[in-house]
Amino acid sequence: MQENKTPITDVLGRPLKDLRISVIDQCNLRCTYCMPKEIFGEDHVFLPDHELLSFDEMTRVTRAFVNLGVDKIRITGGEPLMRKNLDDFIERITHIPGIKDIALTSNAFFLPRQAKKLKAAGLERVNISLDAIEDDVFKEINGKGVVTLPVLKGIEAAQNAGLEVKVNMVVKKGMNESQILPMARHFKGSNVILRFIEFMDVGNHNGWDLNNVISKKEIVDRIHEEMPLEAAEENYYGEVASRYKYKDGEGEVGVISSVTDSFCSSCTRLRLSADGKLFTCLFASSGLDIREKLREGITDEELEQTLINLWSTRTDRYSDERMELKPNKRKKIEMSYIGG
Ligand code: SAM
Ligand code: SF4
Ligand code: SF4
Repeated sequence: MQENKTPITDVLGRPLKDLRISVIDQCNLRCTYCMPKEIFGEDHVFLPDHELLSFDEMTRVTRAFVNLGVDKIRITGGEPLMRKNLDDFIERITHIPGIKDIALTSNAFFLPRQAKKLKAAGLERVNISLDAIEDDVFKEINGKGVVTLPVLKGIEAAQNAGLEVKVNMVVKKGMNESQILPMARHFKGSNVILRFIEFMDVGNHNGWDLNNVISKKEIVDRIHEEMPLEAAEENYYGEVASRYKYKDGEGEVGVISSVTDSFCSSCTRLRLSADGKLFTCLFASSGLDIREKLREGITDEELEQTLINLWSTRTDRYSDERMELKPNKRKKIEMSYIGG
């Protein structure tokens, strides 16, 4: 097998650099734009344990990807902290030579209990989702009537444990545009970078409509009017967030503009679902079942060749093509299944 090396590239010349692993499809919240409670109700059937990839299987796939040049891992869900002993998995992948960065995306509810052991296991960064700072707005969005305090406590616990924290806020018209300025004010001057995410047409159930998207420009203009901003350079190739620094030196904000300013041309990400399907795009309709191959005894060489074949034939550029494709007409995987 190869050592960590030049990454493989797809048909459009994009290198494979990031692996996003969804470790569970369950979540304790029901955010309206992701797992609306009308669809993901009490009787919703989630994946049974035996259909989830085991930590052994996930580690094996991760190792194969790292051999092909992946150096960034993001752990997501559903709510990843609902996967039992997640720190054990992090600990295992920390020891794979070649991995430069391990991060987690979480709603933060279980961080007060878990932050320290996640950090001890090797986690470096966490992106925490928080879509409003006012309780009334947040309660409506998360579908469970939960207030913001547990999330704020999760942020604090992560920081106290020595984790780097970013906060992600999905912005949707009619849902939380009233929170853009209050959220910016709250996190300005703190150690936390706030990033706004344009509402996306992921999955099939969130009633996406272009009219509900608040654009990157609108978001930046609103903040700039009160708290002047200037554009900043990207930190690394393929960074998804456009960065803006506060002119007074009190930190920065980011905007992830998958809809109004897509970034497919530098998309270096591949996603592994909790039940072992590989997706080369967030908006894919189907994935490659790697679990079956693992359980049938595929060798390491065959595994790597399968991954090479998958990436080297990739042509996805959904966000670039969104308007021609008539997004709501095509069946897509759910965000809670693939993890963003
Ligand atoms: N439960 C974790 C959390 O919320 O951070 C991890 C999984 S969640 C699916 C990952 C990210 O996707 C979250 O930041 C969430 O806000 C974002 N997301 C979900 N649905 C979205 C949508 N329709 N448009 C934009 N972002 C979305
Ligand atoms: Fe759960 Fe995260 Fe989806 Fe909200 S965005 S429902 S917290 S998976
Ligand atoms: Fe990457 Fe697909 Fe998103 Fe484009 S639409 S940036 S190819 S995940």
